[in-house]
This record gives sequence, C-alpha cells and structure tokens, in this order.
Amino acid sequence: MNANVSKPPQRPLRASLICPVRGCSEPLLWEPSRAVCTKGHLFDRAKSGYCNLLQVQERKAKHPGDSKAAVQARRRSLQRGLGEPLRDALCLQVAAWNLPPHAVVLDAGCGEGYYLDALRAQCALEGWGVDISTPAIDAAARAYPHTQWVVANADRTLPFADGCFNLITSITARKNPAEFHRLLTPGGHLLVVVAHEEDQKELRGALFGEAPDSDRAGATITTFEPFFKLQHEHIVTSRTRLDPMALKDLLLGSYRGERFSAQAALAQLQEQEVTLSYRLLSFQAVVPSQ
Ligand SMILES: [Zn+2]
Repeated sequence: MNANVSKPPQRPLRASLICPVRGCSEPLLWEPSRAVCTKGHLFDRAKSGYCNLLQVQERKAKHPGDSKAAVQARRRSLQRGLGEPLRDALCLQVAAWNLPPHAVVLDAGCGEGYYLDALRAQCALEGWGVDISTPAIDAAARAYPHTQWVVANADRTLPFADGCFNLITSITARKNPAEFHRLLTPGGHLLVVVAHEEDQKELRGALFGEAPDSDRAGATITTFEPFFKLQHEHIVTSRTRLDPMALKDLLLGSYRGERFSAQAALAQLQEQEVTLSYRLLSFQAVVPSQ
C-alpha cells in the first residue's frame, strides 16, 4: 500500500466544500483526518483518505451504487489496458483547453477513479472524485492518494461551493445539468462521455440478441441544453481480443453490469474480438436564458 495515503496534499486545495447537513451549508474544512464545518458538524476521513458526506436522506439503498465485485471487475479490465484509448482521448481534449495552472476538476460518478487520476496527473489539475458507491471511492482512495475522494450523490446537491470547478467530467455516469452549471466557473468546461451505439456490440448481440443501441448523443445534448452549449463531439473506438475471463470482467464491471445476470450465457463465452466505443461530448457553460 502506498505510504503517502494519509499525508495531506502539499499544495493548499482550491475547491471549497460546503457542509452537506440539511439546512447547514456552512463552509466545510478538509482536514487531514476529517472534514469539519464552522457549526461543528464532523465527518471522519477513512484510513484510505476518502470522506463520506452522503446524508441518510440521499441514500436510496443501504449500499447504493456499484458493488465491490463490480468495482473489482472494472479495475481488472482497466489493468488489462482497456481504458487506455479513452483515457488518452480525455487527456488530449483537456490539454487542448489550456486550463489555468492547478485548475480544479470534478468527476461526477468517478467510480474507482482511473480516468480522473490520469487527468489530474497528466494535465496538472486538482482532482475531486464523487461517487455514491463506498467500495468504489475506497478503491479510488487506496490507489490514487493525490486526488480527493468523496462519497456523495451526484444526482443531488453536491457538497461544493458555487463556481469552484474549472472542469467537470461525467464518464458514462451521472448527468445533473443545473448542479454542474452551479459548480463551474463562468465559461467552465464540461466533458461528457456516453457509450457509442457500437460499444460491446458483439457481446450484446451474441449473449442477449440485442440490436445496437440508439444514439445517446442527441438525448445527452438536449439534457444539457439550457445550461451548456456543445462545442464538439468525437468518437473513440478500439477493438481488442478478450479471453472469457476478461469478457466476464468487462460485462460485470460495465455500466450495463446490472443487466448481466444471465450466468448461463456468461459461462458460454468464447474468446472473441470486442468493440469498445465512446462519444466524447465537449460542452461550455452558458448563462441560461430566463
Ligand atoms: Zn454543518
């Protein structure tokens, strides 16, 4: 385990947190072993460094979000290099924006943190990852101690002050237009990744007899329209040959994971080529029309 896990970051953090207790919303100080608001509400930070700011009323289930098994399956897929094409495309896009030094990025629905930490490291950003899954955030904090990790519900009010992020990413994850707009600096950037309709088409066809997905880009653009203007869109596609173990991990760890309960079908998987394909949608925040 990394010996730096419990050390606070060297540079003072730029993002401002606010207390998640209902009706409080006072500034929340991010201290080495806890977060504390000016009214005295306390949130311990776990040994791995993350802080759980999820309030009981924001929890839909006892253990919301991705399970530990899904998180571990996704991490094994990433360790096989399956995330590299998307990671590189994200870093190239963000580098092209020339954000100010140590600009602050929020990844809403960050999962186990792979893409956010790559962005932080390669683009010299201050990184904040939010996910509702405690196993996902704990895995993120253990692997990537130089990024800040918070358990919270990205569909609700997030525990940050207005305008404290230069960039928000949503990578096959949550879409909360009004809240993302509140959290971004004026003219800030939003990078949304949705699955391309060809993504995992071989598996969906072979296992479940599904037709290709419809294009999700149009619906996503409409969702963000009042607050964000689409700047551009590009597609990242890779094809890779995977053995049955790798195929199983890909399915169990994917955003479609909850649909793959067909254990008999999974047992029949043969080594095959799989398409991984995403649409990257780059938006800029606009002043919403009244
Ligand atoms: Zn408070």
